[in-house]
Amino acid sequence: MAELRTLVIVLGDQLDLEASGFDGFDPATDAAWMAEVAEESTHVWSSKPRTAVFLAAMRHFALALQSGGRSVHYTQLDDPGNAGTLAAQLQADIRRLRPAGLVMTAPGDWRVLQAIKAVAEANSLPLDIREDRHFFVTVREFAAHAKGRKSLRMEYFYREQRQRHGVLMQDGQPEGGQWNFDADNREAFGAEGPGAVPPRAGFEPDAVTRDVIALVDSRFADHPGRLDSFAWPVTRAQALQALQAFIEQRLPLFGRYQDAMWPGDPWLYHSHLSAALNLKLLNPREVVAAAEAAYRAGQAPLDSVDGFIRQILGWREYVRGIYWTRMPAYAELNALDAQEDLPAWYWTGATDMACLHDALEQTLEHGYANHIQRLMVTGLFALMLGVAPQQVHAWYLAVYVDAVEWVELPNTLGMSQYADGGLMGSKPYVATGKYIQRMSPHCKGCRYDPAQRTGDRACPFTTLYWDFLMRHETLLARNPRMALQVKNVTRLSPDQRQAVQERAAAIRRGDVGHG
Ligand SMILES: Cc1cc2nc3c(=O)[nH]c(=O)nc-3n(C[C@H](O)[C@H](O)[C@H](O)COP(=O)(O)OP(=O)(O)OC[C@H]3O[C@@H](n4cnc5c(N)ncnc54)[C@H](O)[C@@H]3O)c2cc1C
Ligand code: SF4
Repeated sequence: MAELRTLVIVLGDQLDLEASGFDGFDPATDAAWMAEVAEESTHVWSSKPRTAVFLAAMRHFALALQSGGRSVHYTQLDDPGNAGTLAAQLQADIRRLRPAGLVMTAPGDWRVLQAIKAVAEANSLPLDIREDRHFFVTVREFAAHAKGRKSLRMEYFYREQRQRHGVLMQDGQPEGGQWNFDADNREAFGAEGPGAVPPRAGFEPDAVTRDVIALVDSRFADHPGRLDSFAWPVTRAQALQALQAFIEQRLPLFGRYQDAMWPGDPWLYHSHLSAALNLKLLNPREVVAAAEAAYRAGQAPLDSVDGFIRQILGWREYVRGIYWTRMPAYAELNALDAQEDLPAWYWTGATDMACLHDALEQTLEHGYANHIQRLMVTGLFALMLGVAPQQVHAWYLAVYVDAVEWVELPNTLGMSQYADGGLMGSKPYVATGKYIQRMSPHCKGCRYDPAQRTGDRACPFTTLYWDFLMRHETLLARNPRMALQVKNVTRLSPDQRQAVQERAAAIRRGDVGHG
C-alpha cells in the first residue's frame, strides 16, 4: 500500500463532508478514520435511541465518504478485535496503517480531545486540529466576549451575534424594532389542547439503520430506552427534509407554544433538529437562514422566527463558549453542595407524578423531550430534590439523542442545576407544581395537588420548592432576584417549616413519588 500521508479522524458527531478536517484531502494519499467503540455508549449509560442515532448516522456518513471517492478505515462495534475505546482503536490503527500525520476538526468534547492528543503524542505523530467551522462563533471570539464579565448573559451575546452576522436586522436595528419577543411566547394550549399538530418528520429505517437497531438491541440490551419507533434523520438528505418540514409546518407556531407541554404529544411545534445539528448533518447557518427567509416571505411571524433563531444563534453558540472556556473545572462544580442520588425511576419512568412520568416515558421511547420538559420537569425536580449535579449530568448525557457534552453540560450544570453558582443564570429556576399546572394539563390527571405544600396529596414539586428555599435561605437572600420568594419563606411558622421538611424527607426516601 502507498504511504498514507494523513489519517483524518472523524468522530461520530462530525458528519459533515465540508468539515475543515477534509480541507486539502487528497484521495491518493489520505484516508478517513472512523470507529464505533463501546466506550462511547458506556462511559455514561447511553440509551438505545442515542447510541442508534450515532451509529446509524456514522455508517451512512462512511458510505457517503466512499461514494465521494474518499477511502475510510472504519471499525464497526461488532468487528472482531474492536479495541473498545477511541484511544485504543486509534492506537491499533496507527500501528497498522502507519500514517505520517493526523488531522481532525476540533472535537466537541474535552475528554475526547485529551484522549486523541495523548495517542498522537505517544506515537510522536503531528496532530493538526482545525477550527470547527460549523459554529458561528469561535472559542477565541467567545473568550474575548466573556473577558472581564462576572456573569455571562445570553441575551447580550445573542444581540451581538445578530449584529455581527446581520441576522434579523434592518438598517442596523433589530427587525420589528425590538430584540426580544419572549413575553409573547409563553402560551399554554387551552383546554381543547394543541389540535391537529402536523405529524413528525419521521424516517423509516433502511437496511443500514435496521442493522444498527438490531446490534444496539442485542449489545446494549440492558441499557435504557426503546427502539421500536426509531425514526430520526440519520443522513444529510433526511436532515434537510426534516428542516424543510419544520420551516413549513411548525415554525409559524413555534414561538407561541415553545414553553407548552401536552401529555402524550412529545413533538408539538418544536423542530426536533437538535440531533441532526449536533451530528453536523445540518449547518446552523442554513437553519437560521431558512427561518429568516420564511419570515421575509411572510410565512412565519417575527416572534416565532426570533424565538427559534435565538435558540441556535444565541443559546447553542453561547453554551459551547461556556463549555470550552470553562472546562475541565466546569464539570466538577456544585455550588449548592447537592449530594442526593438521582432516583432510580429516572431510568424507568416508574413514578406516579404525571408530569414526570410523561416526560420520562417519551424520553425512553424516543430519546427526546422538549426544552421545558428538560428544564422545568426533570431538571427542576432533580434541582429541588438536591441531586448531585454530576449524576444529573450523567443522566442527561445518556438519555437524549442530541446529547453531546459541550451542549448538555452547561445546560444541565449551569442553566438547570445552578451548579455554577450563577455564571449562566441569574437565579436558580425553581417553581412549585403550579408552574407545570399553568403550562400543561398534567395536574388534572395526577394523584397530587400542585396547590398543596404538605399532606398526603401535596405535589412533590410544591413541597420541594419550599424545602429548597428553606435549605438555601441564606444564600438566596443575597440574590435580589430571589428576594420575594425568600421573603415568603420567612413567613412560615416553625410548625409549617417542620411539616415541609418531613414531607421532603419522605420524598427523598422514596416513600412518595415512585410508580
Ligand atoms: C438540562 C438540559 C439538558 C439539555 N441537553 C441538551 C443536549 O444534550 N443537546 C442539545 O442539543 N440540547 C440540549 N438541551 C437544550 C434543549 O432542551 C434542546 O436543544 C431541545 O430541547 C432539542 O429539541 P428541538 O430540536 O426540538 O429544539 P427546538 O425547541 O426546536 O429548538 C431549536 C434548536 O435550538 C437549539 N437549542 C434550543 N435550546 C438550546 C439550549 N438551551 N442550548 C443549546 N441549544 C439549544 C437546538 O439545537 C434545537 O434543535 C438541554 C436543555 C436542558 C435544560
Ligand atoms: S400535581 Fe405535581 S407531580 Fe402531579 S402533574 Fe402536577 S406538578 Fe406534576
